[in-house]
Amino acid sequence: MLDVALRKARLGMSAAGVPLGLASEGSFGPHPAIPYIPAGMELLVFVDDERGIVVTESLVAEKTNYDHLVILPGAASEAFLQRIGFPTHGLIVRPNEGEVASALAKGIVDPDRLRRAIEAAAAVSSDGRARMETDMRAHFNPTRMESLAILAERLAQRLARQCPACGAPGFGRTGSRAGLVCEDCGAPTELVLAEILGCPACDYTEERSRGDGLQRAPVQHCPLCNP
Ligand SMILES: [Zn+2]
Ligand SMILES: [Zn+2]
Repeated sequence: MLDVALRKARLGMSAAGVPLGLASEGSFGPHPAIPYIPAGMELLVFVDDERGIVVTESLVAEKTNYDHLVILPGAASEAFLQRIGFPTHGLIVRPNEGEVASALAKGIVDPDRLRRAIEAAAAVSSDGRARMETDMRAHFNPTRMESLAILAERLAQRLARQCPACGAPGFGRTGSRAGLVCEDCGAPTELVLAEILGCPACDYTEERSRGDGLQRAPVQHCPLCNP
């Protein structure tokens, strides 16, 4: 995702002839920690070729309409359409089987166009069905716009923070260190003990305690008390 976002930013920079670039990249699928719910992975990247730095922020969006439905023409789909937020959220329709490109329609936000796209896709699918997918492109997906707005705010705040050592913008969280101790026996657990802050321009790092103030790990996370 980082490579794709960097390529997008650099394309824009070379097209506009400017040394600063901003780009986003999203991917959608099972939640990385809770695989049975869908999630969006969103990345925002800022490139500054004058300072020679790249600053990134990312988030896992648990609020997403990422979904699909395979249907026969004329079959009821109101529950699906309501759940994914049609028509404020766009849809992609394609044949369920066979040559996808032969009847692919994107950015559908109108019920008549949706009906025609389902008929056209089902007609060329070997099983007579069409596949509706949520259009995850940000300009057709207000839920994604919300995630990107949160991410943009985080990136702006990060760019406003200067490195205490060299003064470069973009000082912020770069990782974490596990080892929060068990509330019962004091053994280290896999839970985060400290967050690591870093600079995009130099090697300076700082550690700070968890943002949520948790001092001890609940016993269910302990490898000794709850193996
Ligand atoms: Zn323990
Ligand atoms: Zn620095």
